[in-house]
Amino acid sequence: MTTLIKIKRDSIKKNPNAGRDSVQIPMPWQVTFETNMTKDELPEWLQGNITEWSIGTDHSLTKGWLGVVDDRVMEYAYSVIKDGNRFSIEAKRDIQTIRSITPEPKYNYKYKNTKVKCNHCQQMIPVNDIKKDVYEGIFDVCPKCGDGDTFDYKYEQIEDAIRKEEAIKEINKPHTINQQYDDKT
Ligand SMILES: [Zn+2]
Repeated sequence: MTTLIKIKRDSIKKNPNAGRDSVQIPMPWQVTFETNMTKDELPEWLQGNITEWSIGTDHSLTKGWLGVVDDRVMEYAYSVIKDGNRFSIEAKRDIQTIRSITPEPKYNYKYKNTKVKCNHCQQMIPVNDIKKDVYEGIFDVCPKCGDGDTFDYKYEQIEDAIRKEEAIKEINKPHTINQQYDDKT
């Protein structure tokens, strides 16, 4: 006889992310700076971060990127601005949407650790103790006798569990009966 491994009823929880098929991941910060100062005017530690520079009509414009905005950059920016230069820092980050092939399930749940009989050694083994072996497919190994595929069980499907639960709720629901009496008194 096939043993049904039932879903723990109190473990069934609605998945708040149900149906969601994507996650949004914030990407690293992209920090750039822009200044009217020429490349050579900048301190050496900052020069290494310059990716591009262009000369505008009235002044030269130097652009670069920064790995991090640390105090050194902020202090430097502050000091050159005080001297009448232009120095702006811009930080932005993109959000990347990753789509998954399998959408999040509607419910999260656990199975009861039901005992299943080994057809070889006749021992009752909790289903979670049954070992899995991979040999041309996955098969069960009895932890007591070591024999393979000696168990007969199947896992309850969540859809069936939900259906049964709803049916029970329906039975236990207080019925509103519209009683009509023929008043023949
Ligand atoms: Zn066994």
